[in-house]
Amino acid sequence: MVMKILVIGGAGYIGSHVVRTLLDKGYAVTVFDNLSGGCKENLFDEAGFVEADILNFPYLFKTMKDGFDGIIHLAALKAAGESMVEPEKYAINNITGTINILCAAWEFGIKRIIFSSSAAIYGEPQYQPIDEEHPTNPENFYGFTKLEIEKMLQWFDRLRGIKFSALRYFNAAGYDLKGRVRGLEKNPENLLPVVMEVACGMREKLLIFGDDYDTRDGTGLRDYIHVEDLAEAHVLALEHIYKTDESLIVNLGSENGVTVKEMVEKARKITGRKIPVEVVGRREGDTASVLASSEYAKKILGWKPRHSDIDTMIASSWEVYKDKIKE
Ligand code: UDP
Repeated sequence: MVMKILVIGGAGYIGSHVVRTLLDKGYAVTVFDNLSGGCKENLFDEAGFVEADILNFPYLFKTMKDGFDGIIHLAALKAAGESMVEPEKYAINNITGTINILCAAWEFGIKRIIFSSSAAIYGEPQYQPIDEEHPTNPENFYGFTKLEIEKMLQWFDRLRGIKFSALRYFNAAGYDLKGRVRGLEKNPENLLPVVMEVACGMREKLLIFGDDYDTRDGTGLRDYIHVEDLAEAHVLALEHIYKTDESLIVNLGSENGVTVKEMVEKARKITGRKIPVEVVGRREGDTASVLASSEYAKKILGWKPRHSDIDTMIASSWEVYKDKIKE
């Protein structure tokens, strides 16, 4: 029997890759998205589409009434800086939106949910690599919303038997290796899409936020994971819930640190473009380095990052961005 999955936020950058992977594996998919961060270009003909907001409770009800074997919930606002200035927006969209989803899921007997959590829930690293036992102390309101939702999921598991996987993403990067996802992120703030925009002339230069960190070249070091590896983990997490009927909290990173300067150097080589940079002051809330331990994901899900080397991440992004070159 074909399993039916509702992907909320399925038109976004990570969501569309998750949808692609589900379709490749034979799942029946419906995307629910308000297209605020996502775009129509990221939709696939094989999947159903409902254009609506998770704050629109009647629409959630109407959609879930059809019955689903599971939900993958990636719909959220995600700009950490903005969350410090407009916390209300983040509280309502991320926290209230998820409560709506849980209430509708309970109403229609949907008992499995995969949730996009984030490394932002850990805050300043106390040791590295960061494992799932690391204390949680978010440094920004965005991270706080993700942590609150994880706690909510634990309560709904206990009181309503809804099983969840909270996937704590580190730094997602790259694009579908077969070139089937083409939508660009709107006003990106993350390093690789910004580098890509500079490479194709959509932006003048990359601002490097600090080069006096305690890392091998002074610039921030992060754990980048290819978005296809990330997508694969969603499907494995779904299968895990089916098999074991147990909830799960798990880190997803590559354990492979890359600095800002290393990313720029590699991008120059791969794209053959100049990529001007200017070193400016540190960005508030940034830390020198963030590295994940993904041992648990490997053990419990049998997951392994396969495409998370820096060359593959940059080259697959460039395949999409090079179409936008402006001389
Ligand atoms: N970064 C930068 N310039 C940019 C965007 C990011 O120098 O325009 C740096 C940032 O300071 C950090 C790294 O790139 O060291 C990754 O930042 P990103 O926002 O992609 O992810 P974060 O780890 O902060 O969530």
